[in-house]
Amino acid sequence: MGYVRGLKCRECGRQYPVEPIYVCEFCFGPLEVIYDYDKIKRAISKKKIEKRDENLWRYKELLPIDGPPQAGLYSGFTPLVKADNLAKALGVKEIYVKDDTVAHPTFSFKDRVVAVALTKAREFGFDTVACASTGNLAHSVSAQGAKAGFRRFIFIPATLEQSKIVSSLIFRPYLIAVDGNYDEVNRLCSEIANRYRWAFVNINIRPYYAEGSKTIGFEIVEQLGWRAPDNVVVPCASGSLLTKIWKALKEMKELGMIKTMNTKVFAAQALGCNPIVTAIKNDTDVIKPVKPQTIAKSLAIGNPADGYYAYKAVKESGGFGEEVTDDEIVEGMKLLAETEGIFAETAGGVTVATAKRLIEQGYIGKNDLTVLCITGNGLKTKEALDERMESPIFIKPNIESFEDTLKEMRIL
Ligand SMILES: *Cc1c(COP(=O)(O)O)cnc(C)c1O
Ligand SMILES: [Zn+2]
Repeated sequence: MGYVRGLKCRECGRQYPVEPIYVCEFCFGPLEVIYDYDKIKRAISKKKIEKRDENLWRYKELLPIDGPPQAGLYSGFTPLVKADNLAKALGVKEIYVKDDTVAHPTFSFKDRVVAVALTKAREFGFDTVACASTGNLAHSVSAQGAKAGFRRFIFIPATLEQSKIVSSLIFRPYLIAVDGNYDEVNRLCSEIANRYRWAFVNINIRPYYAEGSKTIGFEIVEQLGWRAPDNVVVPCASGSLLTKIWKALKEMKELGMIKTMNTKVFAAQALGCNPIVTAIKNDTDVIKPVKPQTIAKSLAIGNPADGYYAYKAVKESGGFGEEVTDDEIVEGMKLLAETEGIFAETAGGVTVATAKRLIEQGYIGKNDLTVLCITGNGLKTKEALDERMESPIFIKPNIESFEDTLKEMRIL
């Protein structure tokens, strides 16, 4: 009953059947899911989609599963918030925040990719799932894997934020803290994936997993009233999310869900981990790995698996990329909170601060409709704000102390 034609090598175009594989045997290029769009066109319509439950599975024909969804049944269809206060602060007409800090069981967009990966893992008959994570994926696989009844091996860099460690441990996975950075964790996991018959969601299940990110793109289009935005700003770690938002926009056009699509895609990274943005700025498709050093740990991938394809998507769309310092990241988090009442994690700070720079430099026009992808909740990275916030106003429990203190501060 599926709409998938198979897997296809992104480099040489060789096709493969639907199996838990991810690289081309001939050229080592990454494999990607391809669909029968004519069949999909006959199966769905805007009206049909609009009547469905408000979760990411409303676009199930465009996701690589054969049977019914088995995870993430209440993930996705997150709010698209018209961010007028933020737009005013940044000096532009129209900004929308795609708010993936909420409406997910583990408060980040990773619940989208994991929903698809776990469903596919079940279809393939795996009983154990695993992942290499910068934090949010650990949280999501731990939680959704618990509900779906999988044995779970979660690999993280040992230096991860304490709040992300706790929020994975509560679900009782095997949490393996590796003495190394994400890129080292990932390399180790590739070896483990070759030795054990486990579903590593972002390694051997990666082609299917990655498709889950498209749902942000579909939702943006639907929530704008079946329109594509002028610009979308996307935080990048491996570069997969950006690549798949671009794919989603193109699919919406291909299926006739939107008439035109002139969206520019912009990559947002931290200065302390900017391999994709560096390639964009230097106009070279060679991604040079870096050693990450940033508070935006969820984006700290120094050797991004999809960096090359993210670069290509940005260039093809006519977009650009920008990088921001740790101080700018915190300022971005504060600005979003103060203007829109949304508490985003560090990655959200990267997106907002990057958008600010792109507007100042004129890459994003004053009259454009711009969507910012805010991908994770701020309660997950509280540590990043330690010693970067003002303190509360301390008083004694009486009215005199209250009034004296606030008068001294010239608030009353
Ligand atoms: C994983 C992640 C991203 C981006 O991931 P890609 O690897 O580029 O797909 C963005 N924001 C948050 C909060 C994340 O956890
Ligand atoms: Zn190939």
